[in-house]
Amino acid sequence: MIEPIISLIHAHERFVITTHLRPDGDAVGSELGLGRLLKKLGKSVSMINSDRLAYNLSWLPGVSDVEVFEGSLSQRERIAGADVIFVVDTNGVARIGKLGQAVRNSGAVKVLIDHHPGPEDWFDLMHRRESASSTGELVYEIITALDPGLIDAEIATALYTAIMTDTGSFRYSTVNARVHRIVADLLERGDIRPTPIHTALFDTRTVEGLRLLSRTLDTLTLRYRGRLGYMIVSQRALRETGADVSETEGFVNYVLSIEGVEAALLFTETERGTKVSFRSKGAAFVHEWAQHFGGGGHRNASGAFITRPLEETIREVIRAAPRFLALEDEAPVEDETLSPEDEAYLSSLLDIQSKKSPS
Ligand code: 5GP
Ligand code: MN
Repeated sequence: MIEPIISLIHAHERFVITTHLRPDGDAVGSELGLGRLLKKLGKSVSMINSDRLAYNLSWLPGVSDVEVFEGSLSQRERIAGADVIFVVDTNGVARIGKLGQAVRNSGAVKVLIDHHPGPEDWFDLMHRRESASSTGELVYEIITALDPGLIDAEIATALYTAIMTDTGSFRYSTVNARVHRIVADLLERGDIRPTPIHTALFDTRTVEGLRLLSRTLDTLTLRYRGRLGYMIVSQRALRETGADVSETEGFVNYVLSIEGVEAALLFTETERGTKVSFRSKGAAFVHEWAQHFGGGGHRNASGAFITRPLEETIREVIRAAPRFLALEDEAPVEDETLSPEDEAYLSSLLDIQSKKSPS
């Protein structure tokens, strides 16, 4: 449904754009691409998110215009008084975070642009497709329906970043000839090159981040005859390496890259609970498994935030695995409750994370 969205853009002046907690490349790229488009059309635009950007996205053109929601009167007034609010790359009030309720209660027309399953029912208009490679692809469709001539270097860079990060650098199953045509169009119209973008995103690791990776790889554990693997990032490992938690982005893919592993998990301990990243290959779907723990996402990439301690979370999530993965031919669930040896092993993993010196 692009036409009603185009009419809405033409008819209104005050826009707000927001996206999900801990925004990734697709979230911020889609937000900035759409924001730049609206500004070029002379609109007033506020981009307001619950969380600050990851360190490797701070180079994106226009990021200084992206605000973190602090609940100020000015921010509340702009949200409540907007004509139109775009929610990109997420489809639920909880995932929007601190400004979720303000967005939902706003008198604005609420427009969803997203590729996740199961949108909530409070959006007035939607442009969504679960088969889309990224939300960036959907924003590209809106911009080209308006006027492809509006694509400049800033928009092209934002959307290239969105599509590239959400497709794992053009390798996931959502990638087809059409996605490559979109990318080719962005490179041409924006007159941009891929190399500096890939360098800025992936070749900017810190020493602290690499030390955290080393400690995390040491916690690698395989279960269910090697079909499920997981790793752990503890608070202590974060503190002792001095790495920022956003530097764990992509760690889970090392587990998934192991031959024979169908599902991979990364458990990250935070002050308020445990963040779990779920990834899988092929027909092993993880979204219902993540939903069972209050999270959600895509069939092969999901996440959840569980307000329980690290060890308890690991136990519960691993124990539930056979109910959501096709592991029926594996040992019954009861046998996957942890034995004393497993408990000891889990403690030793946490020890590796705690005691190994970062030097
Ligand atoms: P990640 O593991 O990279 O944080 O998240 C992978 C995907 O899972 C995200 O793109 C998002 O779709 C989804 N996701 C992550 N965390 C949550 C969560 O707490 N709730 C829901 N509903 N989805 C999440
Ligand atoms: Mn996305």
